[in-house]
Amino acid sequence: MLIKFYDLWKNDTSSLELRPPLEIVRSFFTGFPVSCDYSAISCYKILGSDSQGDIYPCSKAMNYSELRMGNINDGLVNLVGSEIHKMPLLRYKKLKKENDPWFHLSSGGCIIEAKSDMGDYMKPTIYSEDVRYNLFEKIYEDMKDEKIRNLLEEKVGLI
Ligand code: SF4
Repeated sequence: MLIKFYDLWKNDTSSLELRPPLEIVRSFFTGFPVSCDYSAISCYKILGSDSQGDIYPCSKAMNYSELRMGNINDGLVNLVGSEIHKMPLLRYKKLKKENDPWFHLSSGGCIIEAKSDMGDYMKPTIYSEDVRYNLFEKIYEDMKDEKIRNLLEEKVGLI
């Protein structure tokens, strides 16, 4: 289904911005996910805050009190680099397989999805591999064609 959405978006001539295909394709040009993209390496670059200023790795983490990093009044210096903030990086290192060509894009998937579906932040999500890897392969093949590569580069707004 993801590939069908990707193909629809790729061949669409309107200015529709379909995510996540757009962000995933952009990652092929940048070499790493720039936005969340359900790729856990992004969690390290994103913070979520509730209305009281309590800070979490992401707005999706707010249901998990153990992921509260502190409060904005503690100062960013005490939040960034804290144990919870570093957790996605530790998970990245734990899950990384040398022979996995797409790990830099998948990163084991969303940490909150891992917690809710697998019961453990440190596990990979179901969505992180099989389904997305088929899409990554398809984009990889498409990028070998210069015409499609140029089209994709334009569609993600890089040219
Ligand atoms: S926790 Fe999930 S939704 Fe939040 S930034 Fe990380 S990957 Fe994205």
